[in-house]
Amino acid sequence: MSPGIQAIRGPVLNPSPTGGVEYWPDGVLVGDDRGRIVAAGPWEEVAPRLGLAAEEVPRSAGLILPPLLDAHIHIPQHPIRGRFAENIGADPPGGRLLASLEQNVFPAEGRCESPAHARHVVAAFAADTLASGVIGGAAYMTVHARATRIALEQLPDAWSVGLVLMNARCPAYLRTDEAALADDVASLAAEFGRRLIVTDRFAVSVDTPLRRTGVALARQHGLRMQTHLNEQRAEKALVEEVLYPDAASYTDVYRRDGLLECEPILAHCIQMRSEEFDMVAASGSSIAHCPVSNTLLGSGVMPLDTVRAAGIPHSLCTDVGASPTTSLFCEMAEFLKVHAGSSAAATPEEALRLVTVAPARILGLADRVGTFAPGMEYSFIEVAWDGPAAPVDAREAILAGLLRMSDGDLDAWRGDDPRAQAARRLRQEGLDFGRDLAVLEDDVRAAADRVEGRVRRVTRSGKVAWSLASPTPRVVENAMPDPRITEPPPR
Ligand SMILES: [Zn+2]
Repeated sequence: MSPGIQAIRGPVLNPSPTGGVEYWPDGVLVGDDRGRIVAAGPWEEVAPRLGLAAEEVPRSAGLILPPLLDAHIHIPQHPIRGRFAENIGADPPGGRLLASLEQNVFPAEGRCESPAHARHVVAAFAADTLASGVIGGAAYMTVHARATRIALEQLPDAWSVGLVLMNARCPAYLRTDEAALADDVASLAAEFGRRLIVTDRFAVSVDTPLRRTGVALARQHGLRMQTHLNEQRAEKALVEEVLYPDAASYTDVYRRDGLLECEPILAHCIQMRSEEFDMVAASGSSIAHCPVSNTLLGSGVMPLDTVRAAGIPHSLCTDVGASPTTSLFCEMAEFLKVHAGSSAAATPEEALRLVTVAPARILGLADRVGTFAPGMEYSFIEVAWDGPAAPVDAREAILAGLLRMSDGDLDAWRGDDPRAQAARRLRQEGLDFGRDLAVLEDDVRAAADRVEGRVRRVTRSGKVAWSLASPTPRVVENAMPDPRITEPPPR
């Protein structure tokens, strides 16, 4: 092998920018000394062309695939992941989302006012996402400029981070410092550029004047925006009937305030009318699709075929802390389950595209990661494969190798299995929060246990960033005086 060249051989999954996933049971990735891909393809084709000898090229620790990207995740909720809706009743007035925010989420976010706590939370988040094979994405921090700076400094540059705007229906300790906002955005934008995302929490927590200020700042500094949209029925009713009765719809609130013109990433988009999808499609917006969160909070199921027909870019995201895990494999599995029987587009191959090549495009990283091609970063993850021989095709590699599911498991979600029935109610008329939620929650947690800890090694631009054999020092959870989410907020 020529000096300055590195390579790895094994079964390779290569999501295609134009659709589908290429699979090479005996594949090879070749990189140069600048951490760029020189060649990727079947061994028998690449090895002779580049003069690679079998004994010089190490075998992978399992399936090789592009690193994962999560375009919607909340850093300050990482310590309470999976406990987002803890101790929230079955169907509280205003819905589980709003009740969970108030009781569990806002107190966790309030703690990040302390820089020491913020540093601790960001470090644990960085270590855990990397161990899940996630090397970048778009995250929400908090209303605190200091905490946002800490996140931007500590996380690798494939992560964008949002300084969160909030000034309504939120606790006094968690309001945007509006007097300092313009200066805060200017100084963060000067230092971190478009890695800073202007972040409108959602229409319930941000009034029109603050939203328009955010839009003006985004335009001034060339930044994009992110927010939540149409997650739950009760939230939609509150926005449309009580808070903004003069807007044509929830989406119209964001349109008329200019947010839709700032290339926003819109999380959820479940309770949408068709004219709202038209508005989103006509703008440069993308959708963060969060099936685990949408299940565990009983929000519903995003109408996948409508989003696809409208040509709206979308990717799969964890929305941690609503999800118990930073693993996007859990999200891929939930995507297949909740859309089983209702959308032919929900295939294992498409699920993999939605955590690699699709978010790379949404995040502006498509020239670096998402697919294997010459000139892209020599960045990849290796995932344990238990079978005696390499999987035969992409479907088996993804389903059995990454998600640890079988076709029989998937069939159950199209039939009369209690989980399938609950998922249908989630999609159609709404969940029975007692019976259905218990069934679905157990299933999600079991899936998370199954897929977590399967990543063996993460390589970024030719350097090992994490490996199971010698993981980066894990931050001990609860080393800070955090732990119980029910304790009162500071101040
Ligand atoms: Zn969210």
